[in-house]
Formats: sequence, C-alpha cells, structure tokens
Amino acid sequence: MYQRVALIGLGLIASSIFWAGKRGGVAAEFTGYARSKATRDTARRIGLCDRICDSAAAAVEDADLVILCVPVGAMGDVAAEIAPRLKPGAVVSDVGSVKKAVIEAVAPHLPDGVHFIPAHPLAGTEHSGPESGFAELFDNRWSLLVPVEDSDPEEVARLGRFWRALGANVEEMDAEHHDLVLAVTSHTPHLIAYTMVGVADDLRRVTDGEVIKYSAAGFRDFTRIAASDPTMWRDVFLTNKEATLEILGRFTEELFALQRAIRTGDGQHLHDYFTRTRAIRRGILDAGQDIDAPDFGRGLGRRD
Ligand code: NAP
Repeated sequence: MYQRVALIGLGLIASSIFWAGKRGGVAAEFTGYARSKATRDTARRIGLCDRICDSAAAAVEDADLVILCVPVGAMGDVAAEIAPRLKPGAVVSDVGSVKKAVIEAVAPHLPDGVHFIPAHPLAGTEHSGPESGFAELFDNRWSLLVPVEDSDPEEVARLGRFWRALGANVEEMDAEHHDLVLAVTSHTPHLIAYTMVGVADDLRRVTDGEVIKYSAAGFRDFTRIAASDPTMWRDVFLTNKEATLEILGRFTEELFALQRAIRTGDGQHLHDYFTRTRAIRRGILDAGQDIDAPDFGRGLGRRD
C-alpha cells in the first residue's frame, strides 16, 4: 500500500499501528523515531519498526506516509522539524485526539506538493509507551479521516484503505464536527472521571484504604480512565477548549436537574433518565463497539 511508512513518536498508538500494519502487510518498511533515547532503545529491543532512526528527519527521508504520533501540543514543532526532509508527493497524517488545533499547528509548516490528511483512530487504552501497543487495538474501531481543503481525494482513499487494513472502520468528518463529537464521547467523560477520582482522593472521611478496597462498585471504572496519560489529556483540554466547555456546560445543567430530582424525591425523573441512558448502552452493544459481558468482560482479560 505504501513503500515506506514513518512513525514519529513511538507510544501506544504508533506501536499499535506498527503491529497491526505488519499483520495487515500495509508497507514494505516502517521507520520510527522518538525524542528520547530510552524509547528508541526500547523500540529496538522489542523489534518495533524495521528501522529506528536517531532523528525525525532521518526517519521521514523517502517515506511515502508519515504519521505524527506525538501529543497534540507537540505536533507543530515536530511538523516544523520534518518539513524540509519530506519527499515531494508524501502524505503526512497524524493520530491526534483533537483536529482543529492540529491542523492549525501542522499545515503552515508543510511544503507544497506534500499531502496533509489528518486522522484520528478512536481506539486506545490507559497505557502508554512503546511496549503498550498491540495489533488488535484498531479492530472494528472507527478511524476518522479529517481531510483539509486541498487533500487529494485519491490519497484520502488510499489512507482509508491503510486504516481498513489495520482493522479499523473508516469514515470522513470535518474538523469542527470531529472536535464536538469527541468532546461528548471522550474528552468530557475523561474530565468527569478525573474529577470523580480527585473527589474521592479529597474526601478524607473515606480513607484511601476503603476507596481502593471497595472500588468495584463503579469507581474502579473511573480510576481506569483517570489513569490515562497526563500529557496527552492536558493537551486535549488545552486544544479542544471550546467544544469541551460547551459539553461541560450541558453536563452541569443535567447534573443540577438530577441533583434537584434527588432533593425533591422525583423518582419518576430519575427513572426516566436512567431508562434513556440504558438505551444508549444498548445502542453501543448493538453497534459492536463493546461486549455484553458482566463486569465489562474483565474476567475475559479484555484490555481496553
Ligand atoms: P504515548 O504512548 O504517551 O507516546 C507519545 C510519544 O510521543 C512518545 O514516543 C513520546 O516520546 C513522544 N512525545 C511526547 N512528548 C513529545 C514532545 N513534546 N515532542 C516530541 N515527542 C514527544 O502516546 P499515545 O497514547 O500513543 O498518543 C499519541 C497521540 O495519539 C496523541 O496525540 C493522542 O492524542 C493520540 N491518541 C491517543 C489515544 C489513546 O487512548 N492513548 C487514542 C487515540 C489517539 P518519548 O517516549 O521519547 O517521551
């Protein structure tokens, strides 16, 4: 599909792209680069990428597809660093969780003749680093392509085939809508999880021991999300400010309504509300985006 694919940043997403890419036979060669020597050494030790380079410039040399797999806040600097070494006709893509800010940061650095096609695979875990990736991460998950104004349709189609070969379902979306959808489905839920775990930590009446010991009842699922990478999530909130604040405003209103229903004993409101939310869970299962196993399939060793 591509002769040479360069992965810049070698964490969870890049390493999963590599393992899924090997499984799907999507490229003749993968090159890789991470800023720290420790990560590059680990990558070499575990056989991540066919060739690990000591500079981003060397990794993108002659690459047909370059995928930026660094935190959203680092995309602009990385783009500036690789821009002079990009092959004419190369495709530059990324996997950032926010799209408007990445486009604004990356596009100005790219030379004419290089195709820019931002993307975002909707798959992840709370783990990070080069050893956290696995080939199945994208299986049956969505990968959203967010073409910019002058993205070449043929190259967009080719990148779509690449993601399908990694196991993903592919759809196109514009950047603004992407950021709003993700604020609802991912960014705000993460903020709520961070808050809930932070609240439990602050609540001195419940000792730390009790919080951990009795965590099975829902809290444990918040702690899993709240263990996600601090750098990545700091960048998400700093760069998807508008959409996150909008959804957070709506969330606060709903929370007040539920708070009021509890105070006034409005059981009907609570019951109707929880019936609606249960239907949403049903929809997620029907769409094949989760499994209907008790305890989220933990006993089955599920990883995400
Ligand atoms: P990760 O496992 O933490 O890996 C991040 C990589 O970026 C590391 O190789 C790190 O290098 C490098 N890096 C960090 N800060 C950098 C900087 N300032 N300049 C240059 N390189 C830097 O992260 P990830 O989970 O793969 O996430 C990568 C991207 O995918 C992010 O944009 C994120 O928004 C997006 N994404 C994540 C998920 C998820 O659930 N994790 C899902 C979808 C999309 P060192 O190892 O040398 O420090």
